[in-house]
Amino acid sequence: MPRKSARNKQNRPVIITGNWKMYKTIEEAAQFVEALTPLIKQSPLSAYLSVPFTAIHSTAELVKKLDAPIVIGAQNMHDASEGAFTGEIAAKMLKDAGAEFVILGHSERRHIFHESNSFINRKVKKAIAEDLQPILCIGETLEQRESGKVEETLKSQLLESLKEISAKDLEKVVIAYEPVWAIGTGKVANADDAEKAHLFCRKVIAEKWSQEDAAVIPILYGGSVKPDNAGALLAEPDIDGLLVGGASLSPENFSQIINSFKV
Ligand code: PEP
Repeated sequence: MPRKSARNKQNRPVIITGNWKMYKTIEEAAQFVEALTPLIKQSPLSAYLSVPFTAIHSTAELVKKLDAPIVIGAQNMHDASEGAFTGEIAAKMLKDAGAEFVILGHSERRHIFHESNSFINRKVKKAIAEDLQPILCIGETLEQRESGKVEETLKSQLLESLKEISAKDLEKVVIAYEPVWAIGTGKVANADDAEKAHLFCRKVIAEKWSQEDAAVIPILYGGSVKPDNAGALLAEPDIDGLLVGGASLSPENFSQIINSFKV
């Protein structure tokens, strides 16, 4: 099956990606792909799945065998081409295993593993150079939100993580706005607040690059997305898709989220 990729009313590609974090063995990943495939066959979208490194190759092969509308990606990578970086993984290894995209700068990487914007910026550049689509995550903590620093935080994360990226390369980037206080907590940003943050990100892109670039870049929302709130989030004009953690672990929940997008 050719990859299905629907566009929203704003003519931007809609991307709904799961992020499995540190869950699922190779066998469990295969069972998930087999269960999900028939559940999303009516959707105009392909499901993106960001799986653990160990399951990239097997799930990418299974997706080919089943001719399933699923795109496999990774959750992180190093910016070096290769070298003495024990425990790390390079972009070309991810490509070799079958990944087509990579999540970069997830808040768990920023906060637990202390990744800086400059490190994330180097990774974004490397992913683009190796033809892996980067999904760049940004988002404020609860403390930053309560002290009125949402815009300041988003602006510095965007500008520093995308430093020296040309307009041509920006076309390959997807942004995910993920308020840290909403990730894995069950507290979802309401659709209005999420829309405001997405609009602000577009304004930053327009000021630094151009209005045209801001109008085409897909911006996803992530943070406690569930089958019952996905539709309202996707109905906002500047929300072009979703990054789903917990609810992407169950094929039933994830398929309901995907099926909540209507052209
Ligand atoms: C995430 O993993 O980025 C995420 C948004 O998780 P959850 O959907 O569980 O909040």
